[in-house]
Amino acid sequence: MAARSLIQVAEPSFTQLEEDYLLEAWRSTFISGAAGHHIQRFESEFSSKIAGCKHGVACANGTVAIHLAWKALNVQPGDEVLLPDWGYVASAAATVAAGGTPVLIDCDETGRMDPAAIRAAIVPGSTKYLMVVHLYGHPCDMIAIMAIAKEFQLIVLEDCAEAHGALCNGQVCGSFGNACTFSFFANKVMTTGEGGMVCTNDEELAIRLKFLCTHAMSPDQHFYHTEIGFNFRLSNLLAAVGCAQLERFDDLIQKRNVLIEQYQQGLNGHCNVRINPLFDDNVTLCPWLATLYLPDSMSAHRDEICAVLKQEYHIDTRPFFYPMSVMPPYRKYVTVTKEGRGRETVGAKRMSTLGFVIPTVPDMVKEDVAHVVNSIKSVLSRMKNGDE
Ligand SMILES: *Cc1c(COP(=O)(O)O)cnc(C)c1O
Repeated sequence: MAARSLIQVAEPSFTQLEEDYLLEAWRSTFISGAAGHHIQRFESEFSSKIAGCKHGVACANGTVAIHLAWKALNVQPGDEVLLPDWGYVASAAATVAAGGTPVLIDCDETGRMDPAAIRAAIVPGSTKYLMVVHLYGHPCDMIAIMAIAKEFQLIVLEDCAEAHGALCNGQVCGSFGNACTFSFFANKVMTTGEGGMVCTNDEELAIRLKFLCTHAMSPDQHFYHTEIGFNFRLSNLLAAVGCAQLERFDDLIQKRNVLIEQYQQGLNGHCNVRINPLFDDNVTLCPWLATLYLPDSMSAHRDEICAVLKQEYHIDTRPFFYPMSVMPPYRKYVTVTKEGRGRETVGAKRMSTLGFVIPTVPDMVKEDVAHVVNSIKSVLSRMKNGDE
């Protein structure tokens, strides 16, 4: 058999349209982010069509989008920000960069931020900020969470980097909180290579976001600055790619849904694994990456399974994220479970070893999908039998 090349975990899906728009932007000579009609078009179309928001401010990536959002929402040094312990590091890193102090909230048995732990973390009259992360495309329970936010008047930021178009109770993720952020990194459901956006329904906040994003320059006095701002802008070239991906959004989602369904048909139930399980009938998942959840009894074998898939079957995978609380820069922050502050986040620790991401390439050929399914089946069976 000819040597197989490695099946990647993620690859973008591009057509002629992305190329055409990119060239159009290039030839327009508006290649930066301060002007250019692709930026405006991308901001207004993405915010209204995908985020359910009136305003959008395009950013260089999803991480600075979070940083910018917290600055615009006035996080001050020392302000606590409740955020999930289990998740991608950018949510915590950008919060620290903006001056916030993370309070690491445990997840429930589905991996989603536990509303009871959020409640247990709140110090009435002092806690002001909450960040929810719709991890791996699973919407958090926004009905329960927004009720708590309302009760304690919290400012809510939704990190939707992994959840473009996901729904909770029929409402699109991103439209629940005061603002939301997205990423357009190469592995997200739509991409500009590097890119991000902050969206909001609050017009005053949108003006503030744009102002801080673009050097905090006085709107009526060129080169006069009343505050310290940033340059977190997205290039107009990349916004053009974003316009094309946005036109293809439904198709991009459809391709991922089809792929995930193929994995579910091939793998669900085999050795009790689950692919992108639906934890809550009240939500629509974003088909970001195909995630394989092992039964608890097999999670100790996770890293070995991934190593064999790579070495013997040329299939790349990614382990689930680590909890923040186990990584050196974040160990000093308080962790919270539904029992209260200072408790070990056992939910986050369990989730981080429970599964891994399998190749989620929207344009993957049938033979590769079958190869991934069959290889995972044989490796799982082998590990399972090894246990007996
Ligand atoms: C990808 C991602 C980000 C950061 O986005 P970048 O564009 O890579 O900076 C933030 N939060 C979450 C949950 C992500 O998955």
